Amino acid sequence: MRNRLVVLLTLIAMVTSTSSKVLAQNRGERVDLLVLGGTIVTMDSTRRVIDDGGIAVRNGRIVAIGSRAEIERVYTSRKRVVATGKLITPGLINGHTHIPMVLFRGLADDLDLQEWLTKYIFPAEAKNVTEDFVRVGARLGLAEMIRGGTTTYCDMYYFEDAIAEETEKAGVRGVLGETLIDFPVADNKTNAEGMAYVEKFVARWKGNDLIVAAIAPHAPYTVSEAHLKAVRAFSDRTGVPIVTHISETKRELDDSVKDKGASPVAYLDRIGFLNERVIAAHMVWPQGSDIDILKQRHVGIVHNPQSNMKLASGVAPIPKMLAAGVMIGLGTDGAASNNDLNMWEEMDTVAKLHKVFSGDPKVISAQEAFELATIRGAEALHLEKEIGSLEPGKRADLLIIERDSLNQIPLYNLYSDLVYATKASDVESVIINGRVVMQNRRLLTLNEVSIKREARVYRERIIKSLEK
Ligand SMILES: [Zn+2]
Repeated sequence: MRNRLVVLLTLIAMVTSTSSKVLAQNRGERVDLLVLGGTIVTMDSTRRVIDDGGIAVRNGRIVAIGSRAEIERVYTSRKRVVATGKLITPGLINGHTHIPMVLFRGLADDLDLQEWLTKYIFPAEAKNVTEDFVRVGARLGLAEMIRGGTTTYCDMYYFEDAIAEETEKAGVRGVLGETLIDFPVADNKTNAEGMAYVEKFVARWKGNDLIVAAIAPHAPYTVSEAHLKAVRAFSDRTGVPIVTHISETKRELDDSVKDKGASPVAYLDRIGFLNERVIAAHMVWPQGSDIDILKQRHVGIVHNPQSNMKLASGVAPIPKMLAAGVMIGLGTDGAASNNDLNMWEEMDTVAKLHKVFSGDPKVISAQEAFELATIRGAEALHLEKEIGSLEPGKRADLLIIERDSLNQIPLYNLYSDLVYATKASDVESVIINGRVVMQNRRLLTLNEVSIKREARVYRERIIKSLEK
């Protein structure tokens, strides 16, 4: 009797398992998320655009991309985002920020870099920057970036470990550099303290899905040669990126030539600082063979057109650097010199600035501007194998963009619509690493009400601190 029962149970088990296998095949391969419908702007190597497309996502990565029918035939998921009638694009990459500086937005405008930095920004930072300040500012900046469709940003500031925590909580991807500078700052009083901080910071975030910890010497004019060499040695040992500012103003160039007998780029190359892990913001004033050096050393450059315009730093020779094959991305810089973290404005500006500066309307097309904020931006951060386009194997960082706003009607050309007409407010949903962080304009990882309240408290404190 007992044996019969065992046989019977075994038979039932066999039948159930066979039928569940058949069922599984019928239902298709299970994934974590399906994005269905809508026009996909992939930014892959052929710049493929797929109408009525579909994307299957598992473990934070894209497993398949194709027509909606193809994707639905093979994959199934409990979670589906329907994007019919909308655009699906890679998430935007803001290649250069100082995120907590949103709290200094509009504090001091209409000045050149030296006066702005030394009379306003450095004193305001000395009196106000604490770990709490950095967290409040980071949350405000992260909310602004998600709303505007930025899924990855490259930052350099103080207490970067706290910024990394806030960034991970918000579900945003970041290359985050702890700033080193040769004078005492809020979180580190000496070079040795700074290096010890970076050592711990980098070890803590190693292997994280969202956070790439980095080391960020401020600039060649604020960090000594010995210290820059120590930074490079640290990066060689740990493999982390080096985030910095290079050749931002004419004055920086002139001082470098006078003091070091070379342009900032030539000087940094002479001391063995430049390599394929360096991410350099600005590069407004490359001289002589500087562009060749940047190309040969595989340095990633981040162009910040609005910040450069606002501080009257000059116009970086972006068309020339692109033609030379230098890796170039786009950034906003800190909000104190921009005054927002809006990559749609930056794309629009980069195309128009270089047209008016060169007198050639064919320079920096709309498509190139969109590339600078996506796939080329990924190259500049040395992350092109992970992000920047929608392709199988890459991280699922993507935007769903409304196509029904007044400013988007009618629509003839996708790239010109994206660059010249789309606004940050047209971003409807944002997915980062396969996780929906904004759905139908509702932030899912951040509390907008408390973020605004906390930031306004800092406004009063900052004003008081500068009166003393
Ligand atoms: Zn900067």
